[in-house]
Amino acid sequence: MMATAPDAGQFVALLLKLTGAKKTIELGVFTGYSLLLTALTIPQDGKVIIKNYITAIDTNHEFYEIGLPVIRKAGIGHKIEFIESEALPVLDELLKKEANEGSYDFAYVDADKLNYWNYHERLMKLVKVGGIIAYDNTLWGGSVAADSATVGHKGGAVTQSTIQFNKSIAADPRVDISLAPLGDGITVCRRIY
Ligand code: SAH
Ligand code: CA
Repeated sequence: MMATAPDAGQFVALLLKLTGAKKTIELGVFTGYSLLLTALTIPQDGKVIIKNYITAIDTNHEFYEIGLPVIRKAGIGHKIEFIESEALPVLDELLKKEANEGSYDFAYVDADKLNYWNYHERLMKLVKVGGIIAYDNTLWGGSVAADSATVGHKGGAVTQSTIQFNKSIAADPRVDISLAPLGDGITVCRRIY
């Protein structure tokens, strides 16, 4: 349920190839399915940086450890720098270095859905003009389009926040977007300026 859907993953891999992305950033790793496919797709000299939130009991790092043997077996472990942290402070830390601005070709966002707009504001500075940000789960099980009889009065917090995110990104003049109905919905966003 947590891992990126294979059809969305296939689409992400195609986007990486079409754009020739080398330097990418991923928020939300889990056991590393999207990470593995990104690392397999980018060229040999590419680098993936991962922001993964690990609780005090370190459950998330344990998820990553599950996928790590497969990543190592695939021979692409050297492309990965795993940072054990909440995503937001790491993005803010990256933005303190001017050299990081506009330095990423591609970003994959699949961490906590309530922070998507906060991630967007920061990634718009970290991803280069013409670069891509892909947001997973923007249909949130279809609840963003369901009537109140199906999802309850207003839907859950993630439904509400995803509806707001979808509205905001559609109205953002800095980006071209397309919400592809693959997997749980994946919004592809290209930075225009
Ligand atoms: N991209 C993965 C699935 C990610 S699931 C795949 O394709 O398999 C969402 C992940 O986001 C979980 O591993 C969770 O630990 C992580 N996460 C949740 N809140 C986070 C936060 N604030 N910062 C970074 N990661 C977070
Ligand atoms: Ca997801």
